[in-house]
Amino acid sequence: MNLPHLVGIQLFLYAVLWALCARILVTERRAVLHYLAYAAISGVSIMLISWRPLGPVWWTHTAASAAGLLGLVAARRGVELFLQVRPRELEHGLLAVVGTACLVWIGPDDASSRVGLVSALSGALMVGAVLSCWRALRREFGLRFSVMAAVPIVAMFVINVVLGLRAWSGQTLVAEGSGMPQAVTWTVTLVSAAAFNFLFLFLLGLRMHQSLHRLATQDPLTGLLNRRGMQTLLQSEWMRGKRYSAPFSVISLDVDHFKRVNDEHGHDGGDRVLVAVAAMLRQHVRETDRVARMGGEEFLVLMPGTRAEVEGVALATRLREALSRTPIAADTGARIPVTASWGVSGILPQDQGADDVLRRADEALYQGKRSGRDKVVLFGLQDITPGHGAVRTEAGQAPGTGGDPA
Ligand code: GH3
Ligand code: MG
Ligand code: MG
Repeated sequence: MNLPHLVGIQLFLYAVLWALCARILVTERRAVLHYLAYAAISGVSIMLISWRPLGPVWWTHTAASAAGLLGLVAARRGVELFLQVRPRELEHGLLAVVGTACLVWIGPDDASSRVGLVSALSGALMVGAVLSCWRALRREFGLRFSVMAAVPIVAMFVINVVLGLRAWSGQTLVAEGSGMPQAVTWTVTLVSAAAFNFLFLFLLGLRMHQSLHRLATQDPLTGLLNRRGMQTLLQSEWMRGKRYSAPFSVISLDVDHFKRVNDEHGHDGGDRVLVAVAAMLRQHVRETDRVARMGGEEFLVLMPGTRAEVEGVALATRLREALSRTPIAADTGARIPVTASWGVSGILPQDQGADDVLRRADEALYQGKRSGRDKVVLFGLQDITPGHGAVRTEAGQAPGTGGDPA
């Protein structure tokens, strides 16, 4: 078995792999089917080439070159579909049709023109693929994986430039025959095809992993973290806090009389309120803070590196004011008035886990509910909403109150 056979068989194996992927990955099926077409058509092209010099020249030369070109068009479309870059239908269609027509017109014997044309079109396809997909690739997978994806494409581009130049300088027979340059060409082709297929299979897996992770940790309505995502963060913040004595605080909030909002404005109106509250929270917290929808109309803000009685209370107070100004329109165009109750808490030396911090924040919140709603309560203190005074009930101190019971 020689190198072209190896490359061909390898491509057929990738085609089988992509066929299996297409069966299970419904959301990525179009891109995967294009990868499948690329691997199968390119495999056919390579097998036809390896049939030289025994096979009929129209098959081993013209059809092989046309299949090579069509395989690359399929690969480029696959990459563009995968990265949700709009495939250039006209450009690809023209390239496939005009390229094939030109190859038929050139015929199998004029190796110089045939190889020159295929190399030029293939090179253009590859440069075009990198240029059109680079930004989307970087945005989704970062610089490292983008470079890794571009390397095999650039390697194949270089091979095409070399083949093209050799063809135009009359050395086609060397490039198409046997000998050292041929071995290099086939080896680079083999390695590039392996790198391309494995890398895009890996990127597919990475995307699946990321979307599963998102599903598991993100609230679909608001786009915030969900309870599970926040609990993971709280756990690591807790470990960090214990290890480095780094404080953190949390604000637990619950929309007041939300059931009434649903009753008066319907479930959609209620959902709009939840989305608006989420957007308001996201807009007003620091970049290092994290916000989650813990369920229903309950939210949680985690503030690493802050003390509950200082920054925690200050932020909760600001958020309460911001919510009172947040415009949420009802179907009638009128504003839906929304308030919430806010419980603030932080880490204490006797805490056994992050749940203790969370429980205190919830206790403070329900203290606020019991004392009339629309209140900010620091754990251990009753209502510290501006203008409402402060009352110490357990550990904890309100800023500026000196901790004296009101
Ligand atoms: P309180 O001031 O004591 O918090 O009263 P409340 O009415 O806000 O609280 P309650 O727990 O009685 O009602 C919460 C309501 O939130 C009940 C439930 O139908 C509604 N709800 C939960 N999840 C969603 C959701 O995703 N969308 C909408 N629109 N409503 C939701
Ligand atoms: Mg509520
Ligand atoms: Mg509730």
